Amino acid sequence: MVRTVQSINMTSTIFDNPNLVERVGNDIVNRLASVLGEAKGTVALHEPEFLGKENDYLKSCIESGWVSYSGSFVSKFEKSLADYTGAKYAICVVNGTVALQTALILAGVKPNHEVLVPNLSFVATANSVVHCGATPHFLDVNENSLGIDPVLLERHLQLNSKIVGDKTVNIKTGRQITAVIAMHTFGHACEIDRIVEVASSFGLKVVEDAAEALGSKYKGVHLGTYGNLGTLSFNGNKIISSGGGGAILTNDKAMALRAKHLTTTAKVSHPWEFFHDEIGYNFRMPNLNAAVGYAQMEQLPQKLRRKRKLAELYFKAFEKSLFFDFVVAPQYAESNFWLNTIRIKPEIVDRRGDILDFVNKYGYQCRAVWAPLNSLAMFSENPASTLHTSEHLYNSLINIPSSPQLIDVD
Ligand SMILES: *Cc1c(COP(=O)(O)O)cnc(C)c1O
Repeated sequence: MVRTVQSINMTSTIFDNPNLVERVGNDIVNRLASVLGEAKGTVALHEPEFLGKENDYLKSCIESGWVSYSGSFVSKFEKSLADYTGAKYAICVVNGTVALQTALILAGVKPNHEVLVPNLSFVATANSVVHCGATPHFLDVNENSLGIDPVLLERHLQLNSKIVGDKTVNIKTGRQITAVIAMHTFGHACEIDRIVEVASSFGLKVVEDAAEALGSKYKGVHLGTYGNLGTLSFNGNKIISSGGGGAILTNDKAMALRAKHLTTTAKVSHPWEFFHDEIGYNFRMPNLNAAVGYAQMEQLPQKLRRKRKLAELYFKAFEKSLFFDFVVAPQYAESNFWLNTIRIKPEIVDRRGDILDFVNKYGYQCRAVWAPLNSLAMFSENPASTLHTSEHLYNSLINIPSSPQLIDVD
């Protein structure tokens, strides 16, 4: 009892300080410096790094003339992704956003359907639903996993949907709910096995947005392979980059074939005829990008070692901070630590903006996480669960510099 009272008193004096922002800002700057050294110029949040055969492979594309879709690196990159993740099939496309759109179409999402989407995610997760003509229906996230909470998912569906024939229908809007997108925030796994279980019991398909999760596992299995379909992104800020790019992962052969067909203009294979059997998309990844992506895959294990080491150093550096906790991966997960994250104590969440201004002036690029999707004007009227946790996480989480090249482990 006495200890508790003392710690409350101590806490109130610490937070009741006229120079609070400076104190908290210096605390974070010193802890970052203890891991990264003094910032010379700007230490970016996440930068790409090309140390392998990128130049050689690009040169071979240019010299052979195979720069567009037809070229050997697309299938090499696809095979390396399937081998690495354990997915039976990987289909490369131009970016992670259209990978999601394609996965949703394959999951049966049609215009006027609803798709359950975590409220804390990059805007592309929700945009891809709208690109299918459907409506994102926002779900709050779990405080620890930062992703969809299977308990809340189940309760929300029980209270807000009914089964009509073989469909799950939103009671309020009358629209069919077809799928759930489970996103693995910053590379940390959400409870994907339970999410798949709950979704299946309501007849819903699961698309895993694993854009941030290449190299991350859940109970020993690579993310993006639990759901009916998974998607990856190789944008410049992701763990590996092909300049721009994305991929669809699936274990279902029919879905894999259709993903390839749909994303390559739905052309029927023929030596000289142009037959297209439906309205397809030109989402093809150019061979130039695949060449870079393939070279990057060869460096993934080495990048992961450095990212995990960096996370370990940050964990130690923030261990005794009075103002922050380092966000650790849930126990069941093996994280790639794509973006390292600290959580500010509740007493100072209202100063988060000032703290970020302070730290960024010292050259360490630190950022708030995405504004909750329901707070964006275009999504403000969308169907949603209560959203307290995502709103609270938005105010308390800060991403800190996370490029693998920031440390050297070998
Ligand atoms: C990066 C990202 C995407 C989109 O990928 P792009 O390749 O930039 O289109 C989708 N979802 C999440 C969670 C992401 O972080």
